[in-house]
Amino acid sequence: MKKEMETRYSPKEIENKIYSAWMESGSFKGEVDSKKEPYCIVIPPPNITGQLHMGHALDNTLQDILIRYKRMSGHSALWQPGTDHAAIATEVKIVKMLAEKGISKDDLGRDGFMEKAWEWKEEYGGTIIGQLKKLGASCDWDRERFTLDEGLSDAVLETFSKYYEKGLIYRGAKLINWCPTCMTTISEAEVEYEEKAGHMWHIKYPRVDGNGYVEIATTRPETMLGDTAIAVNPKDERYTDLVGKNVIIPIVNREIPVIADNYVDMEFGTGCVKITPAHDPNDFEVGLRHDLEQINVLTDDGYINKNGGKYEGQERYECRKNLVKDLEDLGVLVKITDHVHNVGTHDRCHCTIEPMIKTQWFLKMSELAKPAIDVLKSGELRFHPDRFSKIYLHWLENIRDWCISRQLWWGHRIPAYYCDDCDNIMVSKEHLCTCDKCGSKNVRQDEDSLDTWFSSALWPFSTLGWPKNTEEFKYFFPTNTLVTGYDIIFFWVIRMVFSSLEFTGKVPFKDVVIHGLVRDSQGRKMSKSLGNGIDPLEEIEKYGADALRFSLIKGNAPGSDIRYYHERTEAARNFANKLWNASRFILMNVEDGKEYKGENLTMADKWILSKLNALTRNVSDHLEKYDFGICATNLEHFIWEEFCDWYIEMVKVRLYNEDDETRESAMYTLLKVLKDVLKLLHPFMPFITEEIYSSFDFGDEMVIVSEWPKFDEGLVFAKEENEIEEVKDAVKQIRNLKAEAGSPFKKTSAILITEDAELKSTFERAGKYFMLLSNTTDFKVVEKAEEREYLSIALGNGIINIPLEEIIDRDKEIERLKGEIKRLEGEIKRASGKLNNESFVSKAPEKVVNEEREKLAKYEEMFKSVEASLKKLQ
Ligand SMILES: [Zn+2]
Ligand SMILES: [Zn+2]
Repeated sequence: MKKEMETRYSPKEIENKIYSAWMESGSFKGEVDSKKEPYCIVIPPPNITGQLHMGHALDNTLQDILIRYKRMSGHSALWQPGTDHAAIATEVKIVKMLAEKGISKDDLGRDGFMEKAWEWKEEYGGTIIGQLKKLGASCDWDRERFTLDEGLSDAVLETFSKYYEKGLIYRGAKLINWCPTCMTTISEAEVEYEEKAGHMWHIKYPRVDGNGYVEIATTRPETMLGDTAIAVNPKDERYTDLVGKNVIIPIVNREIPVIADNYVDMEFGTGCVKITPAHDPNDFEVGLRHDLEQINVLTDDGYINKNGGKYEGQERYECRKNLVKDLEDLGVLVKITDHVHNVGTHDRCHCTIEPMIKTQWFLKMSELAKPAIDVLKSGELRFHPDRFSKIYLHWLENIRDWCISRQLWWGHRIPAYYCDDCDNIMVSKEHLCTCDKCGSKNVRQDEDSLDTWFSSALWPFSTLGWPKNTEEFKYFFPTNTLVTGYDIIFFWVIRMVFSSLEFTGKVPFKDVVIHGLVRDSQGRKMSKSLGNGIDPLEEIEKYGADALRFSLIKGNAPGSDIRYYHERTEAARNFANKLWNASRFILMNVEDGKEYKGENLTMADKWILSKLNALTRNVSDHLEKYDFGICATNLEHFIWEEFCDWYIEMVKVRLYNEDDETRESAMYTLLKVLKDVLKLLHPFMPFITEEIYSSFDFGDEMVIVSEWPKFDEGLVFAKEENEIEEVKDAVKQIRNLKAEAGSPFKKTSAILITEDAELKSTFERAGKYFMLLSNTTDFKVVEKAEEREYLSIALGNGIINIPLEEIIDRDKEIERLKGEIKRLEGEIKRASGKLNNESFVSKAPEKVVNEEREKLAKYEEMFKSVEASLKKLQ
C-alpha cells in the first residue's frame, strides 16, 4: 500500500520518527550468523566528556555509510559502539566541578572521588551517544561498551600481567612530560606546542683554570640550578683545549665538566650548551651517554626544591626573575635577546609542561614494534589513502618505550603491589593483601592508574568479549575497517595494532581509512579560542542530518582536509528537496496495488536504465575503494540532472496520455530507477531515503535492510544511451542559441539536415523528446536545406536549423546591429587615431602600442561580422 507524502520535505519531523522505527525493528543488530559474511567496524570511542563536533560528524558519517552499505550487501554488519573514560580529560573536569563547591580531591579521598566521578559519568557520559543518534549512526546500541566497564577492565588486567610476565612492562626513572598543575605525567599527545615570544639569556660560566669564561645561552635560566655539564661539539676547534676541563656554575658555585658530544650544534649561539639531564629530553640522553648526575630542582607543583639552594620554595618563574637579577649583579649576565620558541603546554589546563625525571611504569616497545611493521609491509594491514602508511612506519621505526602510568585516580588502577617489609613488587589480576615472598600483610597497591590509551589500545577485541573466547569474538574478529583521523595514527592506531598482534596473533582490522580535518570556510582549524567552531547539531536542526552528512562527504578527496560552508549544506538540503518533489510526483502517478511491467521500453527508458546500471557499478566500486566523495557527487548528478531534469521531463507526455501504449513502461522505469537510487543513496542520506521508500509499495522491508542493487548485464543499452545523449546535446545547444538570441522560451520550428542514416533514424524516433525539451512545435528531418535564413547548431553529422525570423524580431535586430556598428566605428576611429599619432607610437612602451594594434584588429573583425549580419537581414 502506498502512503501519502507531505507536500514539503521537513527533515526535523521525519528524522526522529525514522530513527525510532529503525531501533524498534532491530535493524542495527549485528548478529553472529554463519550463513552470512561478517563485517565489523569498531567506533573510535568518543570521550565521555565529549560533545559532538564536526570531526565526529565526518568520522561517524563515513562509518555509517560503510556499515549501511555492507548491511544491504548481505553481510552481517556490526558497528560496535562505546565510549572512552578519557582519564585526564574527565578527571580535570570533575576536579573543576568539585572546586566550584569548595571540595578538593584530598578531601574526598580515592574512593570518595571515584564515587563522584561515576555519578558524573552516569549523568553526562551519555550525551555524545544521544548526539550520534541524531546524526543517524546505526550502531548496535545493545552492545555499547565503556573502557572502565567490567569486561574491558578484565582485558586491561590480563594484558598488563601478561606483558609483565614477559618482562615487557618495567618500572624505571625516566624523563617524562609533567604537568605541575594537574600533577601528573601526560603523554606527548596531550602536549600542545605554542609559539611564544620569550628571551634568551646569555650567561658566562667562569673556567676553573682561570682562563676566562665560557658563554652559554638558555631560555630557561632557572634550570642552571640543575646543570651537571657544559657540552661542545667534538669537531669544534674553538674548544678542543676546553674539553675535560671544569667550569663553575655562577651563584650555585658547583664545578661541572666540559664534555664533547655530537648532539651540540656548532652553528647555534656560541657552540657551548649547558646540560641539565633532569629537565630536558635531549640533555637527559646526553647525560646517559656521559654518565652525568641528574639533579632535579623542581617540586611536583612547580616550585624550587632543596637542590635550588637559596631559591628553595620559590615558584619557578619567580625564581627565574630573582636568579636573573643576581646574575646581573654578579656581572655574568652578558645580554638578554628576544627569542621565539615552542613552548609545550598541557592541552587541558594550558599550564607549561616541565620535563621531569620520575619513576614510572613503561612498556618496552622495540620487540612489539617489529610485527606491527611486518603486517604493513606484507599488506595484511592497509592504509587508505596509502600515503598514511608512511606516518605509521615513521612512528614505529622511531618508537620509544611508552610511559603508561599516570598520577590520576579516574582510570584503571595499576595492578602492582608493594610489600613495605621486604620491598617485593607483585603484579596480580586479583587484589592482593599478603606478600608472596615474606607473608607480610603490609602490602599496598600502586596509587597510579594507566594511560587512557592503554585500554583503548585493546578496543577492537576487548569490546567483542576478549579475553573470553566469545562467539562474537570468533565471528567478527579481526574487524574489517577502522575509520579515523590522521592525528591519532600514533596514539591509537599503532597501539591497537601491536596490542592485537601480541594478544590475539591477528591484525585488529584489515583496512584503515584515514580522513582529514573539518576546517572553517577560510581553511582554519576550528577552535574554541578562535570561536570559529560550527556545531553540527545546530546544522542538523537547520538543514537536517541528511544534508549535513551529504555536505561533509560530497566531492572530497580521500584523506584531505575539508572546508565547511553552510552554503554547501544548504545546497545538500535543496538536493533533498528535489528528490522529495520528484518522488512525490511519481507517487501521485502510481496506481495503488498495480504492478507495472517493463515490456515496452522506449529509447528514453533504456537510456535511463542503462545510466542507472552504470551508476550502480560506479558507486559500489568506489565504496569498495573507500572513495566516498565521488560516490556522492555521481549520485547527486544522476538523481538531479539525468533523472529529475531529463528523464522525468521526457516521460511526462507519456504519463499524461492514457492512450499511450508506452505509458506503463514509463511508470515501470520511474519506479525501478527511484527504488534503486533510494537504495544507492541510503548510506549517504539515510532518513529521507527511508521516508520516501516507505511511502511506496516496494515490498514490506525498509530500505535499511533492503538488498543493495547489482550491476545487470541485461540492462546495458549502449545504443540507446548514445542516441539520447545526442538528443540531449542538440537540446542543450538549441536552448543556448535561444538564450543568446534573447528569446529563451520562444517556441520555434526546427529542421534537421543530414544524410547520415543513423542520425536520421535517431531523430525520427526521438523526435517527440527533442521537440518537448527544446520547445519545438514543428520538426522535420530532411537531406537538403532550403534557401532561407537560419540560425544553426552543428551535430556530429548534421545541422539543425531554426528559421531566423522565428527567433528574432527583424526590425528590432536591425536597430540593434546599427547601434553596434556605430559603436564599433567610434572605437576604430579612436584606436587608429592613436596609432597614426607618431609621438604615441614612438614614446609609448612597445607593449602598450601592440595592445592598441590588437584592439584595432579586433574591432575591425567585429565590424565586418556585424556588417554581414546586417546585410543578411536587410
Ligand atoms: Zn595540566
Ligand atoms: Zn614482603
